Amino acid sequence: MNLDDVSSGKGAEMKIDCPVCGGKNTATYTTQTHEIAYFGEIVESTIQCEKCGFRHNDILATEQKDPAKHSLTITEKSLDSRIVRSQSATVSLPEIGIKVEPGPKSEGYISNVEGVLLRFIATTERAMNIFQDDLSQENGKKVLNDLNKVLNGELETLLLIEDPFGQSKIMDIHAKTEPLTDEELKHLKTGFTVIDEN
Ligand SMILES: [Zn+2]
Repeated sequence: MNLDDVSSGKGAEMKIDCPVCGGKNTATYTTQTHEIAYFGEIVESTIQCEKCGFRHNDILATEQKDPAKHSLTITEKSLDSRIVRSQSATVSLPEIGIKVEPGPKSEGYISNVEGVLLRFIATTERAMNIFQDDLSQENGKKVLNDLNKVLNGELETLLLIEDPFGQSKIMDIHAKTEPLTDEELKHLKTGFTVIDEN
């Protein structure tokens, strides 16, 4: 798989007030459409503030999609395969034991498998800086070691992307797409807060 799987269409740019620091017209809001092979059109939007440095990236598919689970065994050959991850998706490497769930600050992105591994490495390093206890440090080191092996093509591992809104995609000929079951959906965070009224 290569760059031909994604073709970029029209883009637009406008100045807006920053939603974080309130700066007048200090933020640039850009949208860019991309046509993804066998998937459809997505719109990538970015807000970037030149005053406070705030930056946020979102991905939105223009067509309605069903909840889906995408899986791929990462090999050396699949490091270049494209990944579309919407802000509502949970990304995990269950065999290595690392998972990133969507939260209010989740970002959508278009990257490749290598880029996803690098994000996991950065996430693990951040967690190791916050949790200084021996067990966290030991687990963190093991995860980092495994992630680097996958990155170097020395270890194959399963990549899972579960998206309750179906707006994500793994663009590799060996990737599998299945519908999410109701049971799986229940256990996924959707990025929304549910208020219990009892
Ligand atoms: Zn700002």
